[in-house]
Amino acid sequence: MARLELRNLHAEVAEGDEKILEGVSLEVESGEIHALMGPNGSGKSTTAKVIAGHPAYEVTDGEVLLHLEDEEFGADIEIDEDQRTWDLLDLEPNERAALGIFLAFQYPAEIDGVTMTNFLRTALNAKIEEREELFEDDEGIDEDDEDDGFETSPMEGNVDEGEVGVAEFQQILQEKMEQLDMDEKFAQRYLNAGFSGGEKKQNEVLQAAILEPSVAVLDEIDSGLDIDRLQDVSNGINALRDEQGTGVLQITHYQRILDYVEPDHVHVMLDGQIAKSGGPELAEELEDKGYDWVRDEVYGTA
Ligand code: ADP
Ligand code: MG
Ligand code: MG
Repeated sequence: MARLELRNLHAEVAEGDEKILEGVSLEVESGEIHALMGPNGSGKSTTAKVIAGHPAYEVTDGEVLLHLEDEEFGADIEIDEDQRTWDLLDLEPNERAALGIFLAFQYPAEIDGVTMTNFLRTALNAKIEEREELFEDDEGIDEDDEDDGFETSPMEGNVDEGEVGVAEFQQILQEKMEQLDMDEKFAQRYLNAGFSGGEKKQNEVLQAAILEPSVAVLDEIDSGLDIDRLQDVSNGINALRDEQGTGVLQITHYQRILDYVEPDHVHVMLDGQIAKSGGPELAEELEDKGYDWVRDEVYGTA
């Protein structure tokens, strides 16, 4: 169990003083789906990037906290009392990712000779290594039980301790791809070479399935998808929640994907603040009436 908490978050452009976020508060727990909606330019993507630690933004006030429960969390790591709440603003983007925050990778456009399989295995191993570093002061790791790490099979040859080897990864990948109803051939393709828009989005969900984050932030994963792909991607998001208890912050301009990924909570962002929150019915209301009525409600009639 984990909970991501934004408290009164204020952020501006790092180079300059243009204010973008002006007091965003939000909590996303494992297993919950939150939709973050709002008109263009309201600050949705900035919220996502600030959570991930994007260097283009400077946080001027507020907090981004990740609370972890005292139970097994990923790779057999027990959590010390003083490590239960992490201040993400003190951590680098890769450290935030290692603790269980997922924001889709900024892909290199194409890399010659790197298959999806190798790319994903590298990403998983990087996360495992970073986690071990973050938790290395924790006496719960390896001291009580020397064999506490990931299992490695004899077929794999030399694999660093804690790393996922080729054969083991193949199994993980196969399982996740079945879970997401993805074509096996996909994994053998070269990174992004000729991927369609829809395939890139499916890849994003596959990455999240492999990395098993506590909270995944998905920014406009529904944009530009035809109805079949939208359904595939939606099934994948539901599987993240159902199979691995991932909490999802689903950023979307349109209500459409929420027909397939039903949110527990819906938030409307206006001018860098969450102007209104509600249940799934709020998304329907926005679909019917647009965003202006929320503005009127918040600021008084224009
Ligand atoms: P949304 O995702 O809701 O459409 P964004 O978070 O992308 O909105 O942007 C919110 C506002 O902040 C917009 O007015 C946008 O132009 C501005 N903004 C975002 N990032 C930057 C940046 N790096 N430099 C300058 N302005 C930015
Ligand atoms: Mg600044
Ligand atoms: Mg955006």
